[in-house]
Amino acid sequence: MREDLSLLIELQECDTRLVSLLASKKNLPEKMAKLEQDFLAFRENIEQNKRKYEEIKTAHAAKEKEIKKINEGIVKAKERLLEVKNNKEYQAMLKEIETAEASLGDVETQVISLLEEMDKLAVLVKKDEEVLNQHKRQYEEEKNKIQADIASIDTDFTGWEQKRSALTNKVDSLLLAKYEKLKKRGNGIGVISVWKAVCNGCHMNIPPQLYNELQRSAELLSCPNCNRIIYFENKENPSH
Ligand SMILES: [Zn+2]
Repeated sequence: MREDLSLLIELQECDTRLVSLLASKKNLPEKMAKLEQDFLAFRENIEQNKRKYEEIKTAHAAKEKEIKKINEGIVKAKERLLEVKNNKEYQAMLKEIETAEASLGDVETQVISLLEEMDKLAVLVKKDEEVLNQHKRQYEEEKNKIQADIASIDTDFTGWEQKRSALTNKVDSLLLAKYEKLKKRGNGIGVISVWKAVCNGCHMNIPPQLYNELQRSAELLSCPNCNRIIYFENKENPSH
């Protein structure tokens, strides 16, 4: 292959890499944000049982407090019962104690049902936590990978830019200008391979005579359809 053509092919690789690195630089932070958003949504959803458990725990604590208060009331009422002067007052005190004891029974029943619900939820919460932990590990792995990719972009970019600059110094300026023009019109691709008589730029067939010429001639040839500079590349056996 003629040297200027192989320089162009290398140059094309640099340009393609640079475009792809720029795209990654834009896409990776977006991908990262999406990943975080998805994880937070997943956690929000899976922690429903945990939040419910916490609510019931708070309700349970309030009921225990209520029980303590009712008990204290009963103790005081029983103490006062000893100091009561007349029967009417005595009957009223007894009634008060009776009512307090009945409501104590109600609250205690409520406490039992709250504790039962907490037991059931505790089993679910434990399972949810295992699922969440597994999910979190995957999320962190992906996050680290994206972060590493983001960190390497700038270094890679500089490397390809330097390689590109060295190549442009070697390529004939007229040919370079032609390549740049074709690249601009050709969606970032100015030089492209042909295999099995198909241009890999526009995916159209190359006429048989031109395809023959491409494999033998040292001329710089162009795709009759997309105008890009073409070269023959054996995709099945790249050394030929
Ligand atoms: Zn073409």
